[in-house]
Amino acid sequence: MEEFASDTDSDYASYWRDWFISSKGNEYFCEIDEDYLTDRFNLTGLNTEVHYYQHALDLVTDVFDMEVDDDMREQIERSARHLYGLVHARYIVSTRGLAKMMDKYKSSTFGKCPRVICDAQPLVPAGLHDTPSHSHVKLFCPKCEDLYNPKSSRHNSIDGAYFGTSFHNILFQVYPSLVPEKTQRRYEPRLYGFRVHASAALMRWQEERREEMKERLRGQGLETGFEVEEEGEEEEEEEEGEGEEEGLDDMFELGGGAVGQGVVQ
Ligand SMILES: [Zn+2]
Repeated sequence: MEEFASDTDSDYASYWRDWFISSKGNEYFCEIDEDYLTDRFNLTGLNTEVHYYQHALDLVTDVFDMEVDDDMREQIERSARHLYGLVHARYIVSTRGLAKMMDKYKSSTFGKCPRVICDAQPLVPAGLHDTPSHSHVKLFCPKCEDLYNPKSSRHNSIDGAYFGTSFHNILFQVYPSLVPEKTQRRYEPRLYGFRVHASAALMRWQEERREEMKERLRGQGLETGFEVEEEGEEEEEEEEGEGEEEGLDDMFELGGGAVGQGVVQ
């Protein structure tokens, strides 16, 4: 930042994008090609979104050469970052942008899922809004299909619109081989080794529904997307459940309907 606020060195202008993407906190951004930035079609509508649009664009494309005071430079600098972010959201759903973001995803640049059962699954950035200033960027885990806040406060303050609401879904549609296999493993609450009754009953009910669903999908020749990993383990669990909780199951029948209905859609 300091280089820019006080700079008259002609060197700085040649590397604005390099500087931007290598700045601390900007690791989620990929470099937008010069060609993309200079094609006016890709920038449609952004002139009304960004103050000092032309100056900002000149700065991003390394052709800004006006003498301005520090205040003005700071404002243009801020606009340039905003413009870069807005164009970035469009760029990363283009073929070249998707490929660059895929590389970053593969090297876990966006971090890993904090959920234990996701086994350090790499995350991808996701916006909750496509218009700026509504929400900060989140991270999407393709394994548990949930969203997380970035760990670092620098990442946590990036506008979600710089990634948009569709990018993470488009990425996995364009590269279906990147979609991780779903796991059936779930955390099971236990008290001193015994399964907590209500949640055990609920999980058993949910597992039955899941088996029914998988059966239906198989019947139609569709892939369920679940890993085929723990068939043995699963059976073992069932036996254990039936043995130890027979008496409790009767109790569950009374209140069980309510638990069951609570989760029926
Ligand atoms: Zn996850």
